[in-house]
Amino acid sequence: MLFSEVIGQEKLKLKLTHAAREGRVSHAQLFLGKEGSGNMALALAYAQYAMCENPSETDACGACSACIKMHKLAHPDLHFAFPVNSSKPSERNPVSDMFLETWRQMLQQNPYITEQAWYEGISINNKQGNISTHEADAIMRKLSLKAFEGKFKVMLMWLPERMNATAANKLLKLIEEPPAQTLFLFVAASSGQMLKTILSRTQLVSVPPVHSDALAAMLVRELGLPQGEANALAHLANGSVVEARRIAGQSDEKRDYFDHFAALMRLSYASRAENVIQLVQQAEKIATLGREWQKNFLLYAQRMMRENFIMNRQVSEAVYLAGEEADFSAKFSPFINPSNIFRLYEELNLALQHVGQNGNAKIIFTDLALKLVKLIVPLKA
Ligand SMILES: [Zn+2]
Repeated sequence: MLFSEVIGQEKLKLKLTHAAREGRVSHAQLFLGKEGSGNMALALAYAQYAMCENPSETDACGACSACIKMHKLAHPDLHFAFPVNSSKPSERNPVSDMFLETWRQMLQQNPYITEQAWYEGISINNKQGNISTHEADAIMRKLSLKAFEGKFKVMLMWLPERMNATAANKLLKLIEEPPAQTLFLFVAASSGQMLKTILSRTQLVSVPPVHSDALAAMLVRELGLPQGEANALAHLANGSVVEARRIAGQSDEKRDYFDHFAALMRLSYASRAENVIQLVQQAEKIATLGREWQKNFLLYAQRMMRENFIMNRQVSEAVYLAGEEADFSAKFSPFINPSNIFRLYEELNLALQHVGQNGNAKIIFTDLALKLVKLIVPLKA
């Protein structure tokens, strides 16, 4: 992983490369940042920068033999430890090495790997992984060896917060006084109880959320989104690469919900006799779609009601809407106020319940539409 491949985090990249160039490489560092911040990507880029035979001021060369091995995550001096669990009864005392192939594959594909995706990848979805004393033993064994070829031996531990107390205690001395040329890189998402002991023995590299400009640029580059849409989606992602990609991936489906929601609402609040017929037709259209779709649509409608209510109360910083949702809501929000929001919520909940009980969709949505007409009226000034 090169620094140039890490999304955003320009300030931190400068700080890390600068310190490394000056020879200030702390032997134990904790990359602490939320999921999607790029804590792992940065730690990998940092490790490669440290190993590179020909680094520039700002990045590893990407071409030397160390870089090529690091790129494949297969450098003999690069060791990993991460939470695992047994995926079948025959696997006793599971340690990271048993899952190394899957790990390399998944991490190469996406250095913004999430804990959930990892557990799914190794088929232990219902269990949490952990870093055990067996792993601690393996780590001590690996680090007692000399570096094969690199300038450093790197031990990169992902999610040390999943390490049990015994394992952590076993490692404390090693972290405090590591063998020569050893680099401990911890990549953590939360600084819980377990981390305190490690925290006091490591240099903290605090990884902030990714700037929304960098997220927008990523969405334009990866998905070819128009700049305006990318900007709007990036703002909703809370500084997370994972979240930005997820939201963008959903946006097709969401547009579908939005179109139906907007049509239904426009017909409801502009209620004239001829609209009621169209309204019923619109409800019938929704009734032909699948039950899962209908449930998600109703949840979406609830979210839109809530956002519009907040918008109506003019707490604009608390509104999470973008693009066409925001345009629509600017006109729609005056209709959602304290006198109807509770009933609207209730009606949507009721519809949700009835869909869940396999009720007749045509009746449920026609009934809902007619109730909306009555409920959605502007608050008299
Ligand atoms: Zn290199």
